Amino acid sequence: MISDVTSPPTAAPQVDTLRALFEQQRQHQPVLRRASATERGQRLRRLSDWIMVNRTAIQEAHYADFRKPAAETDLTEIWPTQGEIKHTLAHLKQWMRPRKVKTPLSLLGTTSWVQYEPRGVCLIISPWNYPFYLAVDPLISALAAGNCCIIKPSELTPHVAALLRRMVEEVFEPSEVAVVEGDKDVATALLQLPFDHIFFTGSPQVGKVVMRAAAEHLSSVTLELGGKSPVVVDETANLRDAAEKLIWGKCVNAGQTCVAPDYVLVQEKVQPALLAEMRTVIHQYYNPADAGVQESTSYARIVNGHHFARLAGLLEDAQAAGATIALGGSIDPDQCFIEPTVLTHVAPESRLMQEEIFGPLLPLVPYTTLQSAVEYINARPKPLAQYIFSRSRENQQYLLENVTAGGAAINETILHLAHAELPFGGAGNSGIGKAHGHFGFLAFSNEKGVLKQRLGRTGIKLMYPPYTPKVRGLINMLLKYL
Ligand code: NAD
Repeated sequence: MISDVTSPPTAAPQVDTLRALFEQQRQHQPVLRRASATERGQRLRRLSDWIMVNRTAIQEAHYADFRKPAAETDLTEIWPTQGEIKHTLAHLKQWMRPRKVKTPLSLLGTTSWVQYEPRGVCLIISPWNYPFYLAVDPLISALAAGNCCIIKPSELTPHVAALLRRMVEEVFEPSEVAVVEGDKDVATALLQLPFDHIFFTGSPQVGKVVMRAAAEHLSSVTLELGGKSPVVVDETANLRDAAEKLIWGKCVNAGQTCVAPDYVLVQEKVQPALLAEMRTVIHQYYNPADAGVQESTSYARIVNGHHFARLAGLLEDAQAAGATIALGGSIDPDQCFIEPTVLTHVAPESRLMQEEIFGPLLPLVPYTTLQSAVEYINARPKPLAQYIFSRSRENQQYLLENVTAGGAAINETILHLAHAELPFGGAGNSGIGKAHGHFGFLAFSNEKGVLKQRLGRTGIKLMYPPYTPKVRGLINMLLKYL
């Protein structure tokens, strides 16, 4: 049940403590605001060093929270975080530099530029599915842009949340960065404070709650949300390659990835062949010794009993509506284990096709024409990611041009989010605003437009009141020619 922050707070006593922390950061903000690129870079280097020294502790915390394999923690939590720091260090000076803009004829004599200033004191609320990366990645952008920050990590991954708090306590002063652990009541209390920017990563439902709270103070927001990211596999696709990438994209983090392929629209003629390739690939990745996927050390677990029951419910509901389990299907509630499971004959009205799956269940939906595939996607809210498996440039172009999504990858899954030069974020229901690299820096910056005028006689003064016929004539000329 999602609480509404506009209702009376349930965690009132906490607000005072949080307000004191917020005020402490507000007092300190001018220091960070004035910090040079070198000083900001030093903070980021300290963070990067801490991460490398504590790499094993980071892996252990993820394993404790949902048996995430250490290699996957390296690949999907530590590597992208270090990559973001490196990219930021390489470009920060240039990003901070005021950007000169051209002067139009009508403003001749002036000079203008865009100046980047920090938003101020920011709140980062992060989810549990990539609990380290999704808390630290926005922090990197926030620090690069010269902000102070309070981070509220997810309560569903408590080991990583505690580790994040320790990291922040060891690397920063509380007046710069602080971690506040807790559940939605703590988030609700934090949301009562007049933050200058709120960076929220989580579900669309809670995103709405955050945006309502932000409206109270007119705080700006970045909302990194979720949704159903579709895949199209057409008849020209290399099916082995598509299966390898799709199964990896679906099963990394046990499918608990915001940009995981949610469902696959496959050209009906190639569905049997794709299914056969998927069978081979799942075996190769997660069951090479024939001991069963549950014995694999390369496969994570569902984060908790609640999400396990949700996914088991989706599976049951889909089967009741006529779906067939084509691959996988075994589950173990004691271990929160769900095998990679591919389904066919899925009813469009079943919950599996209505809700974001966020787990290792993959429905295959056959299509006849590309146009019908596009119509199927566009009948649903705008996705966070769109995936296209095709050798046909024409089909790739058609799908890119006719579907709106936060991002897209052609003949690949997920990797677009690892490219620091690409904006990462959603569209509509899947999010507002963009993150990563320069886009993250901009999300945490106020882009101040500055115009500098000469002293004395300037063109615009000729149009000051009183609006005599001569002045109006000049205004007419301005409208016509400039
Ligand atoms: P969630 O929305 O349940 O929780 C996210 C955060 O919000 C947590 O810290 C939680 O404590 C807090 N929260 C929960 N209820 C709240 C309330 N009423 N008021 C204020 N804060 C509240 O999301 P989740 O289950 O942690 O994560 C899964 C969702 O996040 C999926 O929809 C997924 O697609 C999305 N996601 C998006 C991205 C992205 O980059 N776009 C990345 C990861 C996850």
